[in-house]
Amino acid sequence: MTDIKTIGVLGAGQMGGGIAHVSAVAGYDVLLADLNLERAQAGKAKIDKFMSRSVAKGKMSEADKNAALARITCVEDVGGLGPADFAVEAATENIELKKKLFKALDEALREGAILASNTSSISITLLGAETSRPSKVVGMHFMNPVPIMKLVELIRGLPTDDATYEATKALAIKLGKTVITSKDSPGFIVNRILIPLINEAGFALQEGLGTAEDIDTGAKLGLNHPMGPLELADLIGLDTCLAIADVLHKELGDDKYRAPNVLRMHVAAGWLGRKTKRGFYDYSKR
Ligand code: NAD
Repeated sequence: MTDIKTIGVLGAGQMGGGIAHVSAVAGYDVLLADLNLERAQAGKAKIDKFMSRSVAKGKMSEADKNAALARITCVEDVGGLGPADFAVEAATENIELKKKLFKALDEALREGAILASNTSSISITLLGAETSRPSKVVGMHFMNPVPIMKLVELIRGLPTDDATYEATKALAIKLGKTVITSKDSPGFIVNRILIPLINEAGFALQEGLGTAEDIDTGAKLGLNHPMGPLELADLIGLDTCLAIADVLHKELGDDKYRAPNVLRMHVAAGWLGRKTKRGFYDYSKR
């Protein structure tokens, strides 16, 4: 079994930052990369902020926070992830981009190192085919926010070997997560269920069935969901939701997965949810 000491995280956005956070807290050394050093550092600054809130709430000691942050090293780009034993790619949900990044990870990391993707919908088999080590490529789908959400969905590509799957499962458990395993099918298990719900909420909104608040309150108090589908979409990122819906629609070929126009228009306007302070809701005043 691969001995994992150093975890490389590619993409320092909300998910990559969260993965770096939980990995450092669990005692792993972390290398964090994004498009450039500044973006990786901005990702680390957000981890610092998140951990400081945990300290203020008494959930983490100042010493543990400092020790965890000291284990996270920001690097220039994917090439800086070379010393990692295990890499998790968490860059923007885009097939061509991820294919390119898997090629680059394959070139940067030593033979035998595992390459995982946090993709929400893209085929792991397809990403593995970009590398010289398809048997060492696996899906490791964390939930948002990573330090809080307990689930990791593992995806075996067609060629993923047992050792890779078992090492990834053991890592997820060490990070304090509960694991489910999905076949390599568009959207896997979680987003196969979630995205049609978010899409339908968008159709309800654009057809004027009710306001965003009505729709979300309906789901929360009527279905006992902790968050409504529109506020959850804002948390995930509307660009990410649209990208997943488009993969589901294209790959599964069923119109039930088509995205509502209101989602597409919000993305076109740059209203991507909480990360841009505007999505289905306006967060600038909240
Ligand atoms: P995000 O927009 O917060 O972050 C994406 C990051 O990728 C950005 O920092 C961006 O600069 C970086 N990036 C873009 N091109 C890059 C490149 N060429 N090299 C290195 N970094 C690059 O998005 P996110 O929400 O963190 O999503 C990242 C991945 O995680 C996606 O695949 C998404 O589907 C998946 N995911 C998202 C959620 C969610 O709720 N948002 C949940 C599970 C999985």
